[in-house]
Amino acid sequence: MNRLTGEGKFVTNLVNPLQQVSQLPIPVGVLGFGGLGQAAAKVLAPKQQIQWVVAADQKGFAVDPSGLDVQRAIATYQTQGSLGYLEPEGTLSTQSIADLIQQSQNVAGFFLALPNLPNTFMASVAQQFIEIGWQGVLIDAIKRTSAVEQLVDLGSQLAAAGITYITGCGATPGLLTAAAALAAQSYAEVHQVKITFGVGIANWDAYRATIREDIAHLPGYDVETARAMTDAEVEALLDKTQGILSLEDMEHADDVILEMAGICGRDRVTVGGVVDTRHPQKPLSTNVQVTGRTFEGKISTHTFTLGDETSMAANVCGPAFGYLKAGILLHQQGLCGLLTSAQVMPQFVS
Ligand code: NAD
Repeated sequence: MNRLTGEGKFVTNLVNPLQQVSQLPIPVGVLGFGGLGQAAAKVLAPKQQIQWVVAADQKGFAVDPSGLDVQRAIATYQTQGSLGYLEPEGTLSTQSIADLIQQSQNVAGFFLALPNLPNTFMASVAQQFIEIGWQGVLIDAIKRTSAVEQLVDLGSQLAAAGITYITGCGATPGLLTAAAALAAQSYAEVHQVKITFGVGIANWDAYRATIREDIAHLPGYDVETARAMTDAEVEALLDKTQGILSLEDMEHADDVILEMAGICGRDRVTVGGVVDTRHPQKPLSTNVQVTGRTFEGKISTHTFTLGDETSMAANVCGPAFGYLKAGILLHQQGLCGLLTSAQVMPQFVS
């Protein structure tokens, strides 16, 4: 059991992790090849320390131990609908995740850029990694509190399996949650964490799962109704709102993640935002405001605002791989189990 987090187990400090990272590049994979999965491949393309070698979508997977070709992979997915059609690296499969895990014993870690539809899907994927006996690092960009709680429940099984799983590693939860954890250090007591996001995308269907999962937060909808909507029904809803989704008091895992890190109770964390599905410009500047009381008794607010030019994809995939690198360093030291984006500092991937 790790005394700091209450999760995972320390096996032994075998190697200097910084020395290990110099033996590069480290082979990694991406599960899900939609909006975020494709952006993840593009983010990795110029990196030296980490190399993208495997990926899966719903209909197939692709493997190239010397590095997958990003342009060809994206072109194949966009024209034929699956990485399984990549020649010669692709394989079509109706159980692509399980098949790919079987072939990934040398892959150090995965970014799970998968939809969490149904709300138990990500936990079921984690269970597949455990059952197959794969060991390494898993990172997700999951959003709902109840979904993170399912992963927390898997903590001891992940630790026993030799998996280091860091959850909530996108933008929110992720970058903004970690910023809140850092900002909290100025205070003796944290009163409120208020996350407000603005997302601008040119077409909703580039990020189908993201938009469906956002619709699930609207009054009158839930995860199952949003999952069951046809594309035509999503378009009809967006037509009614001129492409805008306004979201308030969302069930967002920033709350449980900050609570687990001991920063404040979940009732003090709020998340809301505006998504424009017809323009790439952000409808408002994404920010997190952290209000608290200093040891001198002053009440103050720190605000961290993301640059308006940074896209959702940049603010999700950058942190995700930063946490993947941090997870690889922890895994090399024998730290396995369930961690969150507020408990680990992401490491910059060069
Ligand atoms: P998408 O709909 O564009 O793509 C999903 C991909 O997953 C597709 O390639 C699909 O083929 C694949 N897939 C679906 N079911 C599968 C299965 N059973 N096996 C293998 N592959 C499967 O999704 P997206 O818009 O890129 O979103 C991915 C996730 O990221 C969503 O859950 C979304 O909520 C989350 N997200 C998080 C943040 C954050 O800041 N934390 C921000 C944006 C999106």
